[in-house]
Amino acid sequence: MAPLIAPLLIAIGKRAALSSALLGALCIVAELCFLLPELLVTRDALPLYKAHIDLCRAILQVSIFATFVLGAIGIIVTRMRTRRLGLLGITFGVVAMAMGGPQAQALDVGAMRFWSAGLDYFVLELLVLGVIFIPVEALFWLHRQKVLRHGWQIDLKHFFVSHAGVQLLSFAALIPAQVLFSWAVQPDFQRVIAAQPLWLQFMEMIALVDLATYWIHRAFHHIPWLWRFHAIHHCSTEMDWLAGSRIHPVDALLTRAVAFIPVFVLGFAPAALYSYLVFVSFHAVFIHANVRWRFPGLRWVISTPQYHHWHHASDAEGLDKNFAQFLPLWDRLFGTVHLPPGWPRRYGIDHFQAPQSYLEQLVSPFRSRKLLQAQDPDGIQ
Ligand SMILES: [Zn+2]
Ligand SMILES: [Zn+2]
Repeated sequence: MAPLIAPLLIAIGKRAALSSALLGALCIVAELCFLLPELLVTRDALPLYKAHIDLCRAILQVSIFATFVLGAIGIIVTRMRTRRLGLLGITFGVVAMAMGGPQAQALDVGAMRFWSAGLDYFVLELLVLGVIFIPVEALFWLHRQKVLRHGWQIDLKHFFVSHAGVQLLSFAALIPAQVLFSWAVQPDFQRVIAAQPLWLQFMEMIALVDLATYWIHRAFHHIPWLWRFHAIHHCSTEMDWLAGSRIHPVDALLTRAVAFIPVFVLGFAPAALYSYLVFVSFHAVFIHANVRWRFPGLRWVISTPQYHHWHHASDAEGLDKNFAQFLPLWDRLFGTVHLPPGWPRRYGIDHFQAPQSYLEQLVSPFRSRKLLQAQDPDGIQ
């Protein structure tokens, strides 16, 4: 029995040490949000946090406590290299406590209130998604791979930038629709739209935004200079919940700008819009996850991990297929659907060496010609 228990304990200890280090780092970022809320917290969400400050402090307290417990487990049951990770987690916990712990009070930043980062969004989303998807992928994995698989640091940086910069990105994405489509706005018509039941507005938004983004996504694949940016999203060779974050800012900006056009013109009610945004951000992570669930009753109705995994396949049969984010209907209608019973064997882009750092991924679309030879050789001369 003992020879079986020892590897199991070491495996548990490794995960505990790693979780401690990651959670400890998040606690420090959360402390910064508590200390400098005017600078680091999403402006629109600040009143909500202030109204539930006790809950926020309780979450931070539990997280710091969990950092210490997981770090201690990591140190006690693992070998030297992993022990360092547990020690790092405990050090982060000590730093978080030194910054004020759960009772940290906001500092006065005077006049520096012209802009704020969305660090709260980064911390909360990473915490929630990590707590959900890391255990789910460990139990229901499709491809056996490490939690910290190749390129995870790069994807975490993409995740950080897209979440911390959410306000800037969202603001920039609103501009094209406001400049180009103001003529299409009819206040009376918008009132009728916003007066519909919320579930109906939600469904309409899913259908219309998905139709709009189907075509911009298809354009990203077929227009060479656009493909350079979108290729960054496709260069992951391992799929998991974090892989979907690998999106070049130009790709994210253009896609959101197009997605916003029907929302702007039709004027959906804010409650419908917010519920749609929550659904979108979760669904986008889910369809990249390394899970083997096939959803036999749903897979032709809404896009599932299997559906989007085929979009990322480097197997020839999957190239330029399944552009829809939500509704396979659009791919069926426009002849780009591919959903066999099985799963892709390989992901990524053949004949293309993915840039191996975050900064290289940001600049490579502006200079690399190799990307043009990747997915769509017929369209490039
Ligand atoms: Zn794509
Ligand atoms: Zn994707």
